[in-house]
Amino acid sequence: MHRAERPLDWLVVGGGIHGTHLTRVLLEAGVRRSRIRVVDPEPELLAVWTEHTTRTGMRYLRSPGVHHLGLDPFDLFRFAGRRRARRRDLFKGQRRRPLLSLFQDHARHVIGESGLQELHLRARVTGMDPSGPGGFRVETDRGGLHARRVLLCVGGGGAPSDPSWVESARSQGAPITHLFGPDLPWEDLLEQARRTGLPVAVVGGGISAGQFALRVIHDGGTAALLLRHELRVESLDADPGWLGPKNLKSFHAETDPATRRHLVQSARHRGSMPPEVAGAVRACAEAGGLDLRCNTNPVGCHRTTTSCGGDRWELILRTEGDEERTVPVSSVVLATGIGHATDTYADSGFPGGLWLQRLAREREFPTAPCGFPVPDSALQWIEGLHVSGALAELEVGPVAKNIVGARMAARRIDAVARSLS
Ligand SMILES: Cc1cc2nc3c(=O)[nH]c(=O)nc-3n(C[C@H](O)[C@H](O)[C@H](O)COP(=O)(O)OP(=O)(O)OC[C@H]3O[C@@H](n4cnc5c(N)ncnc54)[C@H](O)[C@@H]3O)c2cc1C
Repeated sequence: MHRAERPLDWLVVGGGIHGTHLTRVLLEAGVRRSRIRVVDPEPELLAVWTEHTTRTGMRYLRSPGVHHLGLDPFDLFRFAGRRRARRRDLFKGQRRRPLLSLFQDHARHVIGESGLQELHLRARVTGMDPSGPGGFRVETDRGGLHARRVLLCVGGGGAPSDPSWVESARSQGAPITHLFGPDLPWEDLLEQARRTGLPVAVVGGGISAGQFALRVIHDGGTAALLLRHELRVESLDADPGWLGPKNLKSFHAETDPATRRHLVQSARHRGSMPPEVAGAVRACAEAGGLDLRCNTNPVGCHRTTTSCGGDRWELILRTEGDEERTVPVSSVVLATGIGHATDTYADSGFPGGLWLQRLAREREFPTAPCGFPVPDSALQWIEGLHVSGALAELEVGPVAKNIVGARMAARRIDAVARSLS
């Protein structure tokens, strides 16, 4: 643990995409290295992002090449080398989306170049007293810390959102995992699929579901992709108007947090895939490698005995006309997202942990009916406590969670840090 005699100037909670970029920005704004730390229980910065993007098998990011962790929007293009000399597959399409491996190399470069890893304290924040000496007393599972300002970059939070039928199927031993759960037994999934010749059923209609089904097939398994709707094709998570005044002007003019939540919810293209992923999914289905089933809803999973006397698992599907069908599967992978803020966050877990939700309630921090912060324009929830990512959605807007959301938050946090120095 950091044993500072006086409080840190900044404590960044969470070393993911947001925490890493914002720490880099704070250093650039003049915050001294000895006065800032990033606290995260993972062994290294970006661990959650790296694990999740690897699991999906994605090759390219959905976002354009100007969205990355460096300071200048064109840093990633410069890092990739001169246009004529660089590999042609490093960026894709009109928006020049970067190859994941390039994005990762660049992220490591940003971390290495500014020594961010040395600022990382490996611990989980478990509580916070905003009226501690010199600002905040922050409790972690590895001791206490003091900081004048705290910046919460704790991600989207929460447990993976499981459909309601999953609990009882799991209790009977059904082989169901969540793509973004604590562990994804990839080798076992693939081995089961190969051995039984039965597909891995991938439940979900978004980009991660599509990418994961393609990964299974690419690595020699078979997959069934089950969507509640038709394939929805959208280039980005939300309309580009949300990156600037076109949409944000009226968003910021709206003073009712519940209406802002509604605007955020309806602006995000949930359950959609960009054209090239949807195209690859369709092509794979046409070629016979992928069992693509739209407008179908899994409602259960049970064990049956085959004519040869063996056991196998069957997924029960309800189709649009309310008919039930069964599909034999080797395993089920849920790509149904991670807890989303709707009217209440109670059953999907609060970003950062329930301690934060409780603290906000007890100390009456300004919150919306959905339980999320209502921060000011400096992304300050209460004096000295700033938010970014999912927790800043009601101020930054529908792209708050994305990489560009970190860059948008950075402009405001940078101004705060410069005004203090
Ligand atoms: C597969 C996938 C692909 C994506 N692709 C794109 C894309 O192409 N473009 C784009 O813009 N966005 C993309 N996103 C969305 C978004 O950019 C990511 O979800 C991003 O990781 C969010 O960054 P974050 O820092 O808020 O959260 P995370 O990266 O999840 O990091 C949060 C960190 O906070 C830590 N933490 C949580 N609670 C505590 C605590 N109590 N104490 C200490 N530390 C804590 C966690 O350990 C974690 O390291 C993608 C998301 C996924 C899952």
